[in-house]
Amino acid sequence: MEAIILLGGPGAGKGTLSEFLKKQTDFIHVSTGDMLRAALKSGSPVGLEAKAFMEAGALVPDSVILRIIEERISQEAASARYMFDGFPRTIDQAKGLDLLFKNKSGTVKHVFNLIVPRETLLKRLTGRRVCKSCGAVYHLINIPPKKAGVCDVDGGELYQRADDSEDTILNRLEVYEKQTAPLIEFYQKQKLLRDIAAGHSAAETGAAVLDILSA
Ligand code: AMP
Ligand code: ZN
Repeated sequence: MEAIILLGGPGAGKGTLSEFLKKQTDFIHVSTGDMLRAALKSGSPVGLEAKAFMEAGALVPDSVILRIIEERISQEAASARYMFDGFPRTIDQAKGLDLLFKNKSGTVKHVFNLIVPRETLLKRLTGRRVCKSCGAVYHLINIPPKKAGVCDVDGGELYQRADDSEDTILNRLEVYEKQTAPLIEFYQKQKLLRDIAAGHSAAETGAAVLDILSA
């Protein structure tokens, strides 16, 4: 079992990069944000537990996250390769992942640290629109759909995430700085960190990541 980790603040482009890598590689995309949104929608116990945290732009407790990751991993072959999108988000989650992988002889290969200026993050988040049916990510200005409000892939309706409102965005940026940014040093020490300048186009970011993956 192998994994790469996509690390970056809200709006850094983790979701868009994931979609690119899904097409170009055989990594299995595991997004805790997508899993939690699906749980919320279906009204499952995990969804009920996560709801208030997500709406406030706060982190869902580590125990919940580690549980859904363990369950997700158990569904795939032992040889599977994962790209974790939005996980881990705290040092304790990273330690939990280490433990999980230790038990299953898994290795983390690369941690891609998506670096984006704060102004760019804010612009990306306020303009972001997501497909209700497939989760594809658009941007009103940077990545507009061919037809306004409609997904290019499957014709699904595009919506604005509830946590992409201005107040919640500011809180999520703060949560990232306090709770997630310490992972940069954590993975630097393990020589796993790969800095990626991710403030320009999705194609450039994707190419930089592919370069490292194929090296
Ligand atoms: P995302 O789609 O990755 O931006 O995640 C949306 C929201 O889901 C976050 O603001 C958190 O409330 C929650 N969430 C997603 N992944 C995690 C995680 N690894 N740890 C804690 N909360 C998470
Ligand atoms: Zn769609």
